[in-house]
Amino acid sequence: MRATIMYQAGDVRVENVPDARIRDPGDALIRVTRACICGSDLWPYRLKQPDGSGQAMGHEAIGVVEAIGRDVRRVKVGDVVVMPFAFSDGSCAFCHEGLHTSCVHGGFFGSGGGVGGAQAEALRIPQADGTLYAIPVGADDALMPSLLTLSDVMGTGHHAAVAARVGKGRKVAVIGDGAVGLCGVIAAQRLGAEQIIIMGRHPDRLELAQRFGATDVVSERGRDATERVRELTGGFGVHSVLECVGTDQAMATSVAIARAGGAVGRVGVPHYDVIPQAQPMFFRNIIVGGGPAPVRAYIEELLPDVLEGRIEPGLVFDRTVSLDGVPDGYRAMDARESIKVMVKP
Ligand SMILES: [Zn+2]
Repeated sequence: MRATIMYQAGDVRVENVPDARIRDPGDALIRVTRACICGSDLWPYRLKQPDGSGQAMGHEAIGVVEAIGRDVRRVKVGDVVVMPFAFSDGSCAFCHEGLHTSCVHGGFFGSGGGVGGAQAEALRIPQADGTLYAIPVGADDALMPSLLTLSDVMGTGHHAAVAARVGKGRKVAVIGDGAVGLCGVIAAQRLGAEQIIIMGRHPDRLELAQRFGATDVVSERGRDATERVRELTGGFGVHSVLECVGTDQAMATSVAIARAGGAVGRVGVPHYDVIPQAQPMFFRNIIVGGGPAPVRAYIEELLPDVLEGRIEPGLVFDRTVSLDGVPDGYRAMDARESIKVMVKP
């Protein structure tokens, strides 16, 4: 079968690899019908050092179940399923608490460790009963782009909003106008935010953010950005910050624009070791939360809004490629020519 392999920065290829197959009794095999390229895939695309081996890429997919292991009970051959970016057993203490990304038998797709990537024709799914979520639509349903976001970006934007304690009447800022930030705007609007400030500088993305419910745009950076947000919020800053970038500057800005007693929900993979602004964070009682989103737990809540058309996160996809077009998809996202690329193997 064909699959996407990353060798080093800038060197991503679609190659023939051994067919994915059932290995453990709890596995399922899916034929990937939709996948996509994630903003987090761009980090190895920019930074991966050559180490002689390639890494199978991709952690977001919808597929059709082609085979199941002998212990699989809830998932059936022929089901159309959402594949969350993390696999999980659905039965451990953390899964019961809704934190599937800390599952004691879990792990992440497209990150090595014997599990393949989703930018491929097919994929082995460990812990299939706990991981996969069957959806009541055909494999080519018109809602596919929005349904695909439930495997990562929409659930991740929602997680940022939950961690930042977004609720009715809250003033919210979203840092980052990538696909996750844009989904964060949808999530904040959905949870009843009164004001949503999108912080970014790409006109097409900011326009989409406004369509999703952003009320204000701030394109300044650093100290200017902080001043602008304070101006827009009566001088105190926002109750909730959705940090969807992962750099230390984004984190420092998050703390600076949060109102005393506010909360920062971070979902951008941090590329820093120490959270900046610890002193102001302390003296202004600012909560910092977030981490890898337990998207498996959020599908239940978000799916009806997608199926009934109340939210349309699939609008973040502005390009579709075949498997052979994946390397050019990486290039386009890296060059900011595309917000998010969908892959139709
Ligand atoms: Zn678990």
